[in-house]
Amino acid sequence: MREVKLLAPRELKLVETEKKIQVTDKTVKVDVKACGICGSDLALYNGRRDLTNEHYFGHEFSGIITDPGLGKNGIQKGMRVASELVKGCGICWFCRNGLQNYCKSLNYALLPGGFSEETLVTNEDTYSFLSPIPEELDDITATLLEPANCAFHVAMKANVKPGDTVLVFGLGAIGLIAAMILKTLGAGIIIGADRSQKRIEQMRKTGLFDVINTADADWLDQVKEMTAKEGVDIVVEATGAPVVLSEAFKAARTGGRIVVASVYFGAVDQFEPLPIMRKELTIVGSKGPAPQLKADGTSAVVDKVLQLKPDLEKIITVYDYKDAIQAFEDARSGAAIKAVVKF
Ligand SMILES: [Zn+2]
Ligand SMILES: [Zn+2]
Repeated sequence: MREVKLLAPRELKLVETEKKIQVTDKTVKVDVKACGICGSDLALYNGRRDLTNEHYFGHEFSGIITDPGLGKNGIQKGMRVASELVKGCGICWFCRNGLQNYCKSLNYALLPGGFSEETLVTNEDTYSFLSPIPEELDDITATLLEPANCAFHVAMKANVKPGDTVLVFGLGAIGLIAAMILKTLGAGIIIGADRSQKRIEQMRKTGLFDVINTADADWLDQVKEMTAKEGVDIVVEATGAPVVLSEAFKAARTGGRIVVASVYFGAVDQFEPLPIMRKELTIVGSKGPAPQLKADGTSAVVDKVLQLKPDLEKIITVYDYKDAIQAFEDARSGAAIKAVVKF
């Protein structure tokens, strides 16, 4: 079994083991085809998070069911699947209060995770981290199901109305996919903002959105120029830099809405909260993944990923398993927007 193994921070190794993993009553076995590198995988790689607490490595994968265990949720041998949170228990306090994304810890959902040729995935009556995927959805694009699920949650929190103007701080996968989804839900002008000139040039090449550089002294004037001088209706904050929250307060119009999708580390000095009251801002957090289901109980995100496939392909860089360490380096440096490792 081939595995991209994290031995210590910044110490990745490609290992091949004889290890055969055995399904349990609570799991199914997946032959992993590809796995994307998430910001949280990079946090593990960089030593900001710790594998002794998180237990698995890689959660954005696609593959084929090789052992369906007890076959709960209609999962069968040979089925093509991709990871995303689709089911909470429905009984706990969180589920009964619309917070299924907090239902159970994801900590043991995958063992050892998607950076391994084979992984176990929890699949119980009460809890599932897998969606079947249709033939039209290829293995590579399907790895974006989980980040698209998180981005879908952001878009729901944005409460978008037709024609709303949107500013997305942070042109990583979550910010970009949220912008793509908001567009399909009727948003008007969408502006991407970043401080990395490299990322801005990458984005300009894709032609997906207008982009501005927040390192420019006049970035706020540029935003106002593009949005009838009032500022934007919706800000999505997806940078991970706490200081950007103050910039979000400036960019939002009076009565505007800010969705915070950032995983922040650390605190910020000279924080100016006054605009929250002065502009009657609404600030909401968004913590994905969360089940996003249609009335028949199947995933709404699978449909969205299929719809957005041509745009999603523009932000993916594919690496062969043998180049997995390079994939992590490129994800870390920003050379790749979404690095996907193919097994
Ligand atoms: Zn992720
Ligand atoms: Zn629950």
